[in-house]
Amino acid sequence: MKKSFDASTRALPHVQNLHAYVPGEQPQGEGWVKLNTNENPYPPSPKVESAVAAEVAELRKYPEPVSHKLRAVIGARFGMTEANVIIGNGSDNILDLITRCFVTEAGAGQTVPSYSLYPVVAGMSDKGLVDVPFTREMKLDVEAIAATKAAVFFLTSPNAPTGVAFSLEEITAVLERIDGLLVVDEAYVDFGGETAAPLLKQYQNLVVVRTFSKSYGLAGMRVGFALADAGIIGMLDRVRDAYNLDRIAQAAALAAFEDVEYFEAQRQKVIATREATCRELDAFGWFTYPSASNFLFTEPTNAAGERGAAVAKSLFEHLKQAKVLVRYFPGHPLTCAFIRVSIGTDAEMKAFLTAVESWLKHA
Ligand code: PMP
Repeated sequence: MKKSFDASTRALPHVQNLHAYVPGEQPQGEGWVKLNTNENPYPPSPKVESAVAAEVAELRKYPEPVSHKLRAVIGARFGMTEANVIIGNGSDNILDLITRCFVTEAGAGQTVPSYSLYPVVAGMSDKGLVDVPFTREMKLDVEAIAATKAAVFFLTSPNAPTGVAFSLEEITAVLERIDGLLVVDEAYVDFGGETAAPLLKQYQNLVVVRTFSKSYGLAGMRVGFALADAGIIGMLDRVRDAYNLDRIAQAAALAAFEDVEYFEAQRQKVIATREATCRELDAFGWFTYPSASNFLFTEPTNAAGERGAAVAKSLFEHLKQAKVLVRYFPGHPLTCAFIRVSIGTDAEMKAFLTAVESWLKHA
């Protein structure tokens, strides 16, 4: 007989109750207009291809473990040094490292709604997570954030799924009022937000987290980075995997980061498409949050002039049948009447709008 081991009771008690992060759907098969995971509709810089090819020849050797070159180039761009930068296997990896290092008994905090990975990484720490709810206005409640007394507070700016960016004044106010670490997750900042990076000069309790997955078009490569005080980076380095970035990822990220001209052109294209799409949604009479990101969070109104969760769900399902995939978050009163649409190419947005028009006719 097979010797038994009941993982459901033998895992650590808090792990028994954990729920894994649920990423957006990655549909199989052809023909999908994929506007559900905020990927860049454009490929990465053409320089990435030759950089990757050069590394393939070296794959029998381990990668450089610290990603020195990437740290130095990124640090210099932000007026800092290599000592202020850590590279992660995606920014999700960085968020996990921060949690593992700095979430003490005081626990973590987050605004709600925001990025649904924070409860997952906080759950792994088993130290608790305090929610600071938004109201429909999506204004930052500085006093409520301070009142959490969290060891680490996660703030997404521009926020997800709304796309609303917070000003440096608001972020400064939080930094002044809290004693713990403020993690400003800037996954979408290149599409219109104001980076909090300059505040690193005055605030040692700030970590700015970035990713190559969105504005650099490298989601499949898994590269993110954080900027922070050298003391914080030193701690994060103690808990990261020795080879947390493979050779190909390091080379691809470096090539993409250095091709500033290409980066800028793609970024501007996405912003222009977002603004054009937003005007179309306005013409439907829908409410859409002002977006500083590569997605729009919009509250549809159907042909009968109705809004709400049933209306948003009906649109989501109609779009899916038309093979246009967007994101619907039914689980929260501030999100359930909305859909989140990632910005694709102009042609993809046209397909989305055509499918919306057919819903408006038939709903
Ligand atoms: N932060 C936010 C707010 C995100 O939406 C995402 C991607 N969904 C990430 C971080 C993670 O990005 P990655 O791990 O691909 O760098």
